[in-house]
Amino acid sequence: MEVRIIVETTFENGTTKRHRVGYLSRPFRRTQPEGFGLLLEDAKIILRQLQNAILRDQIEEISAASRICPDCDKVRAIHDYRSRVLDTLFGRFKVKAPRIRRCACNAKSDVVLGGPLSPLARFFPDRSTPELQRLQAELGARYSFREAARILETFVPCAKQVNTSVRNRLGKVARNIDAIEQTEPVVAAAVEDPPALTVFLDGAHIRCRPEYQKRHLDVVVGKIESHDKCRRFGLVQQAVLSPASQLRQDLRALGWDRGKTVTVISDGEPALPNLVRGAVGGKVRHILDWWHISMRIQHIENAVKGLLQVRGFSGIPVLFKRPAEALRWYLWHGKVLTATTSLQWLMVDCARLGTDDRVAIEAVRRVQARCRDLYSYLANNMDNLTDYGRRQRAGLPISSSRAEGCVDDIGNTRMGKRRRMRWSPKGAHRVAIVRAAVLDGRLTGAYQRAAA
Ligand SMILES: [Zn+2]
Repeated sequence: MEVRIIVETTFENGTTKRHRVGYLSRPFRRTQPEGFGLLLEDAKIILRQLQNAILRDQIEEISAASRICPDCDKVRAIHDYRSRVLDTLFGRFKVKAPRIRRCACNAKSDVVLGGPLSPLARFFPDRSTPELQRLQAELGARYSFREAARILETFVPCAKQVNTSVRNRLGKVARNIDAIEQTEPVVAAAVEDPPALTVFLDGAHIRCRPEYQKRHLDVVVGKIESHDKCRRFGLVQQAVLSPASQLRQDLRALGWDRGKTVTVISDGEPALPNLVRGAVGGKVRHILDWWHISMRIQHIENAVKGLLQVRGFSGIPVLFKRPAEALRWYLWHGKVLTATTSLQWLMVDCARLGTDDRVAIEAVRRVQARCRDLYSYLANNMDNLTDYGRRQRAGLPISSSRAEGCVDDIGNTRMGKRRRMRWSPKGAHRVAIVRAAVLDGRLTGAYQRAAA
């Protein structure tokens, strides 16, 4: 059989136009398994032709419509035609775009100011469609630039892609996200009860390019949650002039305003909550992530268990077992002083344990080291502990585990250490921005608003 594909365009004034878009031949006598239906290569050719037909008709329609002077309704003269190269997801086309003479109707004298108008220029300032730009950035933030180029070329009839063009596009889209979000009006706080915001923070370590004199770069990633919305973010502090104002934009987008409470949940690293403090410009409630505490308690419990099993153990088991178990309960309920006291007693009891057995000494040392570890962790974060039990019963978050998902999604999928790629602060920052926007579904939205 033979298949002919024809497109019919109906313009707004009622006229129609037909284009032959493609032709397929499927002689049944020679049909192979590979010849059933539409193949990728056929589809790419047809898509390309289809795009060409639609694009040309659209340009024709827009050009004709923009010849009418908006002031006097006269048809303006065409100055000349300029050829423009247009990059789309379905191919690169050279189109002829008219330039239109300005009308003299509005001028006081007969002198017409300004050069000819180019009606198409405003549609494609970058000479490529927003959809193509978005897809290049989205894939570039997920796969290596080379791979992103390969994926695009495999599935769509776009022009030849190279890794550098994907990289440059990602950079441009990242800059656009910044620009759009900075000019965007802040969500008006219509609610009388301001929504409390919780920021979950974590850091991802990625390999740094050698010329920056250090091995690793820190990407700050996290999630901001209000009662009904959430938003991810990622940034490299060295790559932006003011990381705090960058974060402030993200907080604003979720309805933050001066005077509203912000709760930060992260591990003991002071740099992360300090970043939020800088963004908010004031007080921030920092809560230590429960999981990091729980893990340290677990280490003590395991070490004590090990000690009790040692043959040469000569102490009273319950003196060691009880404090180790109580520790978790006290910390969970925010009884920090009691917890530290029982921690100290555990250390004292360990020190008193007189034994000559080498294995026992080793086990005692292990318990002591784990206790000291938790003790200094608590001492450094004394102000950031809370009654975790009560918080959880109230349905409030107690763990930054929600940010850990962001570490994987924003940091590690593209820039993880296993991918063996080294990053500059700027490059990493761009990928983080675009990745966060993609995950939130903001990239499409931003482009639609920009195009509108
Ligand atoms: Zn006019």
